[in-house]
Amino acid sequence: MRNENQPLIFELSREGRIGYSLPELDVPEMDTEELLPSGFVRQEAPELPEVSELDIMRHYTALSKRNHGVDSGFYPLGSCTMKYNPKVNEAVARYAGFAHIHPLQDESTVQGALEMMYDLQEHLVEITGMDEVTLQPAAGAHGEWTGLMMIRAFHEANGDFNRTKVIVPDSAHGTNPASATVAGFETVTVKSNENGLVDLEDLKRVVDGQTAALMLTNPNTLGLFEEDILEMAAIIHDAGGKLYYDGANLNAVLAKARPGDMGFDVVHLNLHKTFTGPHGGGGPGSGPVGVKKDLIPYLPKPVLVKTEEGFTFDYNRPESIGRVKPYYGNFGINVRAYTYIRTMGPDGLKAVSENAVINANYMMRRLAEYFDLPYDRHCKHEFVISGKRQKKLGVRTLDIAKRLLDFGFHPPTIYFPINVEECMMIEPTETESKETLDSFIEAMIQIAKEAEENPEIVQEAPHTTVISRLDETQAARKPVLRYQKKEAVEV
Ligand SMILES: *Cc1c(COP(=O)(O)O)cnc(C)c1O
Repeated sequence: MRNENQPLIFELSREGRIGYSLPELDVPEMDTEELLPSGFVRQEAPELPEVSELDIMRHYTALSKRNHGVDSGFYPLGSCTMKYNPKVNEAVARYAGFAHIHPLQDESTVQGALEMMYDLQEHLVEITGMDEVTLQPAAGAHGEWTGLMMIRAFHEANGDFNRTKVIVPDSAHGTNPASATVAGFETVTVKSNENGLVDLEDLKRVVDGQTAALMLTNPNTLGLFEEDILEMAAIIHDAGGKLYYDGANLNAVLAKARPGDMGFDVVHLNLHKTFTGPHGGGGPGSGPVGVKKDLIPYLPKPVLVKTEEGFTFDYNRPESIGRVKPYYGNFGINVRAYTYIRTMGPDGLKAVSENAVINANYMMRRLAEYFDLPYDRHCKHEFVISGKRQKKLGVRTLDIAKRLLDFGFHPPTIYFPINVEECMMIEPTETESKETLDSFIEAMIQIAKEAEENPEIVQEAPHTTVISRLDETQAARKPVLRYQKKEAVEV
């Protein structure tokens, strides 16, 4: 709904109008100065909007309608796996036994919750082919960092203090080099070849006695399966390094292939992507990490163990890298992922991969007539096309992305991976119908035609949204992130 005149909540404010009522104070009133150090006591009351309950309901409901989410429309954001999140997950996460417990409760009173966590770990062990899993990390990047810290601990325990380098392909997700840097490593880039896969000769060139690990996504961020993975694993292992699997997007290999069988030593999963935790608004996520046997001693502590008396946390882990998150991970997201795995079952998970791959290939082949296809091979759960042809007509990939908004679609990921010019990275996911795929394809075809016949309509898009084209530079350089009085906004 077009509603550009939605006023700010501060503009709706009328002195004395209130939207809440609190019970009468039934304890002695205290002087704030007695409770807090004087430097922390605010001298003037904060300026808050004064609005009725109905005003505030209408205000936020109107704003919520401006959002695009998986429940409102197609969201083919590559590498983000914006699949439908089944509502049964929400129902289970709200069970009192899950939602109303406290992390400081005695273990004996939360055995069911601990059993769920233990069971989830076991399922993830089975799905990844690893030997043990921790649920602590709060998201994918956090899992990467946790995994790399374990690899570092492993090398150091072997007296190997010289392994300072982590190899990352040029098509890698940006979090990979970032995590390696935060974990204290130097990143070394390995090139992709003309097929979009890691160049084995270049890999052999960059591997040496200083290699701590190779970080890899498979299928990679171009949506292509690294078919030389066993050879790559041998190259790294022979040099004494470890293999790290970025399993943020497991959608193409779920119940089909396992990182553990490909030779990987550490893997993180994004439960908020593949395993239907809601995401896209900034969290919370969940990035469990699985490891092979020789890395188990370094897992974050406490480790959940099953004993004859029941489930308990083991803190006696002298070689552990320590705790990586307060309490035990983002429990609510883990409940949702557990529910998803249990409702799908092994056959359901296999069907997820098959449908994700078929949907992506169908879309790729139909779009290849109108857009450049840099790697003309079967893809896995996602694919990249290039807007090179349209750019010659003065229409950039950014314009195409903006024009898609007029059709009610969330645009794909653009300008990533960086090794493809005018890149669009499209991930339809398995949960979309053929009709939805077709309507997106039709919109893309229409945009390709507009680029030839009427480029302005694409260049000036979007035309139907509440907010029209933003000044991207201004938004990046001078973001206004919170309410400021109109006269104070300096733009
Ligand atoms: C999303 C993603 C990540 C990062 O996950 P976060 O939960 O956002 O930290 C890492 N690698 C790949 C390939 C991803 O798609």
